[in-house]
Amino acid sequence: MSKKLLERLNKGPVICAEGFLFEIERRGYMSSGEFVPMVSLEHPEALETLHKDFQHAGSDIVEAFTYNGHREKMKVIGKEELIEPLNRAALKIARKVADLKSTGPKPNLMAGNISNSNIWNDKDKKTHLQVEKMFNEMIDWAVDEGADILIGETFYYAEEAYAALKAMKESKLPCVITIAPMGENIMRDGVSILDTCKELEQRGGDVVGMNCFRGPDTMMPYLKEIRKSLKCHVAALPINFRTTKEHPTFFNLPDNNGCNCHTPHKTPFPTALDPMQCNRYEIGKFAKEAFDLGINYLGVCCGANPMLIREVAEAVGLKVPASKYRENMENHFMYGQDIPKHMKDYGDKA
Ligand SMILES: [Zn+2]
Repeated sequence: MSKKLLERLNKGPVICAEGFLFEIERRGYMSSGEFVPMVSLEHPEALETLHKDFQHAGSDIVEAFTYNGHREKMKVIGKEELIEPLNRAALKIARKVADLKSTGPKPNLMAGNISNSNIWNDKDKKTHLQVEKMFNEMIDWAVDEGADILIGETFYYAEEAYAALKAMKESKLPCVITIAPMGENIMRDGVSILDTCKELEQRGGDVVGMNCFRGPDTMMPYLKEIRKSLKCHVAALPINFRTTKEHPTFFNLPDNNGCNCHTPHKTPFPTALDPMQCNRYEIGKFAKEAFDLGINYLGVCCGANPMLIREVAEAVGLKVPASKYRENMENHFMYGQDIPKHMKDYGDKA
């Protein structure tokens, strides 16, 4: 099978695991809140394992973990001098895993990655130049380390997404660009979600869509509009949390946090979102619905784990290495088929 992204998308689904920030933090290799991917330098073996686990679960793309590995964030933690080693290490690990033969006839693609800078300010042109410089150096390293495609993601300013796409396109590599509007349901510079996506297509995005911040329920309505209006391939990578109309993103999701007062509290973000997670079937349902609409680039962002990526892949008809281990309730000790009657009967009371 071809290593060309668009050829593969024209033929069927392409799966992309994202959300490494949450997953590597959960595995104990990153500080929540600070969220700098030092793991490529400090625990390269843990990052390699993470990529391999997602690959085993069906991710066709190994996205280099350089999210937040940009100059501004490195400055914040006082480690600016490590920016190039960090980026190159992350890219090399991604390249190594993408080149493993374990995926059989379906070779993985390695993606270089740029993302929201958090310093972009629509009212301060100086920040635009700073951000463009950050994008350019990261893209240069990605190209140099042999990226097959580039992914720009999690943009909540339309103009920042346009700047990212412009920088990525200079590489001549296929470009995936996904936006992450916040709870106001509009980009922070006032452009609608749909208009931003239309503009990204006009400006040459090969795959345009949404990732992060929103769970299936609050991302799907926009995806429907986007799929209807765009001709290019569309991407859908929600978070794994039950966001609602009242709380469209995971930033302000209420929960009672184990308190008895029955009044929803603001959940400590992002470390106590666990009870609001979608189960695998909700994620599978989302993927199937998106695929049926004609969205072929699918994945999960924050909250993703390998089991959910397998669910996405299987929901759109793929069989992946981890399919060998999908649930098999037939052999369950209480809910299985050929089990003693005294255990079967006890199932409802257990
Ligand atoms: Zn995310």
